[in-house]
Amino acid sequence: MGTVFCSEGFEKFFHILQEENITIQELDERLPKAISLIAREGYLGKVDVYMKAPASVYEPDGVDYKKCLYCNEDGYDAEPYEERFVTGENGTVSIIFYPEKRHMWTEEELGRIRFLAQNIYVLSGRIRLMGLVKRANVTENLTGAANLNGLMRFGEMLQGKGQISRYNGSFMNIKNFKYINQRLGNRRGDYVLREYCHKIQKFLNEDEIIARLGGDNFVVLFKKEHEKDFLDFMSDVKIHVENEGDIIVETRMGIYSAGDGDTIGDIMNGSTTALNVAKQNINNDRVWFEPHMMEREMRDKMVAGLFAQAIKTREFVVYYQPKVSLVNSQLCGCEALVRWKRDGKLVPPMDFIPVLERDGTICELDFYVFDSVCQDIKRWCSQGIEPVKVSVNFSKVHVFDWLFTKRILSILQKYGVDSKYIEIELTESSSQADYRDLMEFITSMRDCGINVSIDDFGTGYSSLSLLKELKVDIIKLDKSFIDNLEKQNGTDEIVIKNIINMVNELDMQVIAEGVETSGQAEFLRKANCAMAQGYLFDRPLPCEEFEMRLTEGREYISRLK
Ligand code: C2E
Ligand code: MG
Ligand code: MG
Repeated sequence: MGTVFCSEGFEKFFHILQEENITIQELDERLPKAISLIAREGYLGKVDVYMKAPASVYEPDGVDYKKCLYCNEDGYDAEPYEERFVTGENGTVSIIFYPEKRHMWTEEELGRIRFLAQNIYVLSGRIRLMGLVKRANVTENLTGAANLNGLMRFGEMLQGKGQISRYNGSFMNIKNFKYINQRLGNRRGDYVLREYCHKIQKFLNEDEIIARLGGDNFVVLFKKEHEKDFLDFMSDVKIHVENEGDIIVETRMGIYSAGDGDTIGDIMNGSTTALNVAKQNINNDRVWFEPHMMEREMRDKMVAGLFAQAIKTREFVVYYQPKVSLVNSQLCGCEALVRWKRDGKLVPPMDFIPVLERDGTICELDFYVFDSVCQDIKRWCSQGIEPVKVSVNFSKVHVFDWLFTKRILSILQKYGVDSKYIEIELTESSSQADYRDLMEFITSMRDCGINVSIDDFGTGYSSLSLLKELKVDIIKLDKSFIDNLEKQNGTDEIVIKNIINMVNELDMQVIAEGVETSGQAEFLRKANCAMAQGYLFDRPLPCEEFEMRLTEGREYISRLK
């Protein structure tokens, strides 16, 4: 280190400061002590340090630090020497040396002081960097909130103090953030995330925490006594965006109320599970965790895990539910409904279809069912049994699949099945955006000569005026309408009559689902509803039983009396 650094004082100075792993606080304490060791030989009267750094996510208020590192009891001369450094992030560090009273530093002495200044700068810089790295380790870099690691540490600290049961944990997801991002662009989307997080951060108390776990996923640990205020606050988060005005940010939450002995891991698991329930529930954005949700999630995971194998071993079987013409009381079609034969039991579709829809594997199952249906039709034809039109349910996920039509046609071809025996049932869309895709899809199906029906009509984005643009062949009136038929004050009857009239005028047909009584069937027949399906006629039947309907009795007249 050159001749300027040969005294014992300097050696001691470095010895004190260059120890590994000392914190900025320790440096703070040690630096004055180290300087005092060399004050005499450097003729130092006073040493001040000023540090400035701009704000960053890790230091949200920036740095504006001033400290006197040394001051001689006998006073100092007013004429200082300043060494100034500019840091990489455009901050400054100034170290100001005042000589002892009546001392003028020689060039050689000033050389030592400059050397001393550089070392103070480098050492303090290194230690600040270490502090920043530690911060970065627990801080998320877009918002400056805690990251997962920071959240876990905070939670473990609460566990350690036995305070965790005073907290609720909320796993939060911004509703429709994908669309906010698409509309505003990524830069302003990031701004929304940052502002959202800062607003919540400001609202929370010192002993509460918000963490961002990537994307638009946040976790907040808030005190139970603060619950009402926090939830009220979360109901009204507005963010001002340039050229857009105020946008309202709605949040989906899964909330877990921690108990004694819970860990931060329990809070995370419980709140995630509750959030998953909230995501499936259009009417409730805030769901409190309940133990049965965990069971359901486990079951869902099991379904998803078993599915691939079950398809291979052909555990799925197709049942057929007859459709009956209300004009002549004859069998006029059927609906293919899937069942899962697992360990000798039949699992109903509602226990596994929603799970498969969520992870997209439903497409595979739908084509499996369609393939089985085509095989059955082919067999009937070859045995001289005249088939009826079979409707097959297809999940809405397919509406976005370009290859869908091709795949349908290639399966029809594989078995040589005429498209007149096939109808495709699609569920009504829940939004106008889906609705446009649905329209295109229907057109492409009809171009191939395949009938399309809208299932569960009246439960989704129904608008009678849009009906004529849909150009489907059949409308399946949802069971809920039929259920109300003989119960209510007659309003549903008027609605049903009007829907049927309008659909008939548009050259489409209506089928009623879930018909259970002859009274309902009679009402529908009088209202000019073409077909009906329901337990009154038959439940969904295993293939062999349905085959008997095809071969032995296509007549349902006795059921209608
Ligand atoms: P969906 O397409 O609306 O089928 C009608 C459901 O109502 C069937 O339930 C049927 O068994 C039931 N049902 C029929 N008549 C009556 C009645 O008179 N009373 C009552 N209470 N219920 C009746 P299931 O078989 O449990 O199927 C439920 C849903 O699962 C279906 O509703 C459909 O959305 C879906 N699904 C079934 N198979 C498939 C499939 O292969 N692919 C897809 N994507 N979805 C399917
Ligand atoms: Mg259906
Ligand atoms: Mg239906």
